[in-house]
Formats: sequence, structure tokens, C-alpha cells
Amino acid sequence: MNTRPTIFAVSSGAGRAGIAVVRLSGPAAHLAIELLAGKLPPVRLATYRTFHSISGEVLIDQGLVFWFAGPQSVTGEDVAEFHVHGSPAVVGLLLSELGLIPGLKLAQAGEFSKRAFENGKMDLVEVEGLADLLAAESEPQRRLAIRQFSGEASAVYQEWRAQLLDILAYVEASIDFADEADVAAEAIEKIKPRLIVLVASLQEAMDKSLRASAVRRGLRIVIAGPPNVGKSSLLNGLVGRKAAIVSEIAGTTRDVIEAPILIAGLPVSLSDTAGLRSHADDPIEREGMARSLSEVESADILVWVLARDVAEMALPLRKPDLVVMNKCDLQDEESIQGRNETLDLVVVEVSARDGTGMQSLRQQLESMVLQHSSCATDAVMVRERHRTAVSESIRYLNDAHKHDGHELELVAEDVRKAMTSLASITGRVNVEEFLGRIFQEFCVGK
Ligand code: GDP
Repeated sequence: MNTRPTIFAVSSGAGRAGIAVVRLSGPAAHLAIELLAGKLPPVRLATYRTFHSISGEVLIDQGLVFWFAGPQSVTGEDVAEFHVHGSPAVVGLLLSELGLIPGLKLAQAGEFSKRAFENGKMDLVEVEGLADLLAAESEPQRRLAIRQFSGEASAVYQEWRAQLLDILAYVEASIDFADEADVAAEAIEKIKPRLIVLVASLQEAMDKSLRASAVRRGLRIVIAGPPNVGKSSLLNGLVGRKAAIVSEIAGTTRDVIEAPILIAGLPVSLSDTAGLRSHADDPIEREGMARSLSEVESADILVWVLARDVAEMALPLRKPDLVVMNKCDLQDEESIQGRNETLDLVVVEVSARDGTGMQSLRQQLESMVLQHSSCATDAVMVRERHRTAVSESIRYLNDAHKHDGHELELVAEDVRKAMTSLASITGRVNVEEFLGRIFQEFCVGK
């Protein structure tokens, strides 16, 4: 007998709306329909009903009811949906009536998705894709998420595993004949090129995944450079308000100032950092500089600002994606706008004070943001969890590649470990430690 509680929650958004959807999953879902909306409707058909309190005395609302008999449902269990008018009062009364039915309890965040995962309706990558799809704010984020949610990304992992299974079967068959020395040597010769090709595709996917992770969480543009070059003025000019304090006193910006901004229609975070110079006596300024350096390191797009009236011209340790030469209103020298061929850097000359060149700076940032997102959308891996597992898999395959003909068993063992790492991504093995974390990302009702 199935003693699992039946969970229920509002699956549509919070607050007032035209329609609210209250969803139930579990063995008592049919009972809830019968008690509040009359006899069970045909499966998967929208059916118009009046909803009454359990006592039958109060008319709650009129709306649609859906009945999905498990296992052909989103969670794999019996599922019911009530579509009612989306006012807090209607929804509140419906929820309190449901709470009176034995065996029913309010769902926790992500509990519907967790049941779908446990019943084999979704693998872990699809669950994560659903969380991302619900959180997507931009078109590239949606495209990345739907690729994960629809199973496209999982299919790539499965294809890699299938190739490894093929290699493993070949190695194991050769182990059986390994007393014939030629067989083992020949087996190794045959599988090595296949391992190399597979490692190359895993590595290529890893390279793309960094950009995909950046698009998934939202791109981060960091403005850095020496003190007093006009970094804060540039940030204010780009976001269109005085988010950062502008002052002629060097070292005014002590902490990182972050402002959200839409660039090419995509949500991006833009950060102004404390000016970097070779020495700083003030401990607060030193701490500010340490924070700047860590921002510089983790930036998706690094904008390095210089100004003609500031002597400090050194470039940062990391190559910037864009150099901005500010305060062009002050200098008469020849324009240096364009691409600096010797350094292979894009240089834009602007004046944050009078606005000269700001349009061309915006265009440069737009094209960089678009470039980042277009490279990312066919990525397979989008999370650190995926990257860790794939890099582990690459390590085992490189180990497998190092063995010679006498060590076929060791090759088999490494290939098996590489397969296990890949399997943990879609959730076939070793996933317990991730489960709690992943389902917490969801809101109640998903
Ligand atoms: P930060 O320390 O790099 O953040 O620089 P700020 O934005 O605080 O600016 C430092 C000083 O340079 C302030 O006095 C600004 O008014 C001035 N400044 C900023 N941009 C320009 C510019 O384009 N032209 C001129 N002439 N002065 C500027």
C-alpha cells in the first residue's frame, strides 16, 4: 500500500492573478477532487466544475479541474489540478479545505520535481534545467535551460557513456584472451585513438561550459584600473544614475560597487572597483585593492580604464577584454581609438564628462555580451557540478591512455571510473549529496 503523503501547493505565481493553479500529487489526489469538485473527470481533459467546501455548505469558486492518473503524469503519481480565480481569498480557502483532507500536506520547495525525479520522469540534468527555466530572465538563459530540461544535454552524456561502454566491452573481451600477447597489444593500439577523440570532445565541451555558466548566472562586467581615471564616472554614465561616488580624491571607491544593467537586452552586472596602484599605505585602501583584484580575476568581461592625466599606465596581470581611454576632452593627441594591433586589444576613447565616445563604448560592450551568449547556448554543461564530473572523467581517461598492453585490467578500471563520473551528472549514481541542494533551488509548487 502506498502510504506517501499527497502533497499540494499553489503552482502559479504569488499574489493576485486571473487564474491560480493548485496542484496535488499522490494517492489521495482523486479523493480531493471527489470531495471538492464531484466525481472524477476523464483523464487529461479540462472539465468545468463548481468547487465546494468539504461540508458542502460553502461555494468556493467555479473553474477547471484536471485529473492525471499516474504513472502518466508529471510526477509519475496521481495528479490533480484545480484552476481557480487567482485571488488570495479563493486560493486561501481552497488550500485550507485541502489541508483538512486526511493524507494531504503542503508541499515543500521542489517536492513535485523531487517526486518526478524519484519516479524516473526526469533525470537530474532535466531537473536542474527546469529550475533554470523557471529562473530564466533572458533569451540566452532560456535557450540554455531548455536544452538541459528537454533532455538534449542528457543525450550527449548518454552518447559519451555509450562510447565508453563500447571501449570497455572491447577491453574486457581482450582481457579474456590476454595470454596471447599480441591480442592485448593490439587492443591497446585500437582503443587509444578512440580515447583521444573522446577526451578531445569532453575537453571541447569543458571549454564552452565556462561561458555557459557565465550566461546562466548572468554576465559580470568589471571596470578596473588605476585611481582617478574615471571608473566611477564611467559606471554612472553607463547605468544612467549616480550609483558610484565620483571625486578627485584618489581612493574614494573602497568597496566593489555593483549595478544591474541591461546590455543588448540581457541582464548584466556591472562593477566599479577600487583603483589599483603599486603602493597603498592605508589598510582600508589595501583591502579595497585586494577586492578589486579578485573581481578582475573573476570578471567575464574586464574593462580596463586609463586616462591621459593619470601617469599610472600599467596593464593588469590579466589581459583586459577592452581598454577605455577616458578624459579625451583633456588631450589633443592623436586618437588611439580602434584596435591596438601590438597588444591585440580593443581600445575605445571616451569622455565620461562630456559623453564623447560613450555610444561606441556601449556598442563594444553590446557586441562582447552578445558574443559571450551566442557561444554559450549550445553548451552541454552549465554548472560547476557538471564541470567537476567531466573533468574527473577526463582525468581517468588520460590515466587509461597511459597504460600499456600488460595492463588491460587497469585500462578497464579507469574507463569504468570515467563512466561512473559521467553517470553522476544525470543522476544514475552517487547523487545523494547533490539532491538536497538542487531541489532547494525550486519554489514551492514545482
Ligand atoms: P575613479 O577613481 O577612477 O573612479 O575616478 P572618478 O570617476 O571618481 O573620477 C576622478 C576624477 O576625474 C573626478 O574629479 C572626475 O570628475 C574626473 N573625470 C572623470 N571622467 C572625466 C572625463 O571624462 N574628463 C575629465 N576632464 N575629467 C573626468
